[in-house]
Amino acid sequence: MIALPNDDRSCGWYDVLTTAAPSKKMSGEQNADFVVIGAGFAGLAAARRLAERQPNARIVLVDAQRIAEGASGRNSGFVIDLPHKFALEHPDPAHKQKLLSLNRSAISQLQQLVDDYQIDCQWSAVGKYQGAVGARGQAHLDHFEALMKDLGEPFRVVEQTELAKVLGTNYYSRAIFTPGTYLMQPAALVRGLGNNLPENVDVFEQTPIRKIQQQGQKWLLHADDGTLKTPKVLLATSIFTREFGYLKNRLLPVMTFASWTRPLSDAELERYQGELNWGLTPADHAGTTLRMTADRRILIRNTYKHVPKYAASVNDQTRQWVQGEHYKALRARYPDFADIPLTHTWGGVYAISRNFTNFFGQLENGVYASACDNGVGAAWGTVSGGLLADLAIQADSQALQDIQYVTGMPSLNPPEPFLGLGVKFRIGLAKWQSRSEL
Ligand SMILES: Cc1cc2nc3c(=O)[nH]c(=O)nc-3n(C[C@H](O)[C@H](O)[C@H](O)COP(=O)(O)OP(=O)(O)OC[C@H]3O[C@@H](n4cnc5c(N)ncnc54)[C@H](O)[C@@H]3O)c2cc1C
Repeated sequence: MIALPNDDRSCGWYDVLTTAAPSKKMSGEQNADFVVIGAGFAGLAAARRLAERQPNARIVLVDAQRIAEGASGRNSGFVIDLPHKFALEHPDPAHKQKLLSLNRSAISQLQQLVDDYQIDCQWSAVGKYQGAVGARGQAHLDHFEALMKDLGEPFRVVEQTELAKVLGTNYYSRAIFTPGTYLMQPAALVRGLGNNLPENVDVFEQTPIRKIQQQGQKWLLHADDGTLKTPKVLLATSIFTREFGYLKNRLLPVMTFASWTRPLSDAELERYQGELNWGLTPADHAGTTLRMTADRRILIRNTYKHVPKYAASVNDQTRQWVQGEHYKALRARYPDFADIPLTHTWGGVYAISRNFTNFFGQLENGVYASACDNGVGAAWGTVSGGLLADLAIQADSQALQDIQYVTGMPSLNPPEPFLGLGVKFRIGLAKWQSRSEL
């Protein structure tokens, strides 16, 4: 039995959407030219690109859950152009420039789709703040500033007084603003992308694929009520790629958590005195991500857990504990809002690797995967999914060469119990080091 995704039902972004139309599930014995498994950012982009490049082909996109229930619909809603911290520290300047341009091409693709299909998802080009608390945080900001200068990227240092006017809190001592990040409502964006796929994409939701089996030149995919036969399978299943026997000892499952408040009332908004629609990530990466949404909610994201049983939903005890941590973070920043309830608390799983390397490519004949985005998958999933489709149909491009340049093999994990102990130690250490930013 393979483990299947089982995301909790407490994600605020998903909960505020209108009720989805009933799902279409796969049944019977079907054939397709391509099957994409997983309908997050990566799978949606892959299915779209295949359909556009091969308008006469039948593309099937399947997901075990409803579209937007997975990590792509439950993140913090930052579509980030800059590579993450460890990639920014990469010694090869070409590597960093290629990552930047790939992420930016993802942002333009999403921008185009939001415009073309009028996807109502709070899509906004507002940049992001990287916020520091105290001396340790400022040392991280200094490092970040040096990396930005080195890359030749635009940025602005925002001092405490100016920052407080935006954030409505004096909690942060300084920030660096970078203009290239977009903010969005992830569940609304992902559902919108799923609802507007080309006509030659058949979408089946709540259709877990339990096994893939080679049959001559084709692959037979087993779902609960039927099978799909195809020569080409694209795995956009993030950490669940391991369940099909691939990258088994290379991907690490990590869960992180978010909570948000109800929308602030007019009176509360007056007390708050900050702006709407901004996003802040911590200077020290294990700290708290903070957003004030366009619809007046404060969102808090922090806390990482290594989750070897990544198919298990968040239990009530963990949710309560995490919510307690989120209340602490909220009160530290907004003591006047101590009485505002956090109405939703949710978790989500994604894949990281010990060497922070993303996998992109062919796993074996007819099987392709993009897996492991190290937690910044909105842009990466989009660009890698599209290019995975190009790889599967051998449509060469500069972008395809670039993604092959910057990706590689995630390093092997040590066996248990050393892995679990090691990851727990690293997460604990990072949390302690980032304690002022939690
Ligand atoms: C709380 C939180 C905050 C985050 N914040 C950000 C952020 O602000 N910006 C950012 O860029 N990233 C963020 N991330 C990370 C980001 O959400 C992920 O990196 C991204 O969603 C990965 O996209 P994906 O398409 O590769 O995978 P996923 O979105 O995980 O999609 C994989 C899909 O595969 C399906 N699946 C798995 N197994 C099967 C199977 N056997 N059969 C059928 N379907 C299957 C799943 O149901 C799922 O829908 C955050 C993550 C979390 C949890």
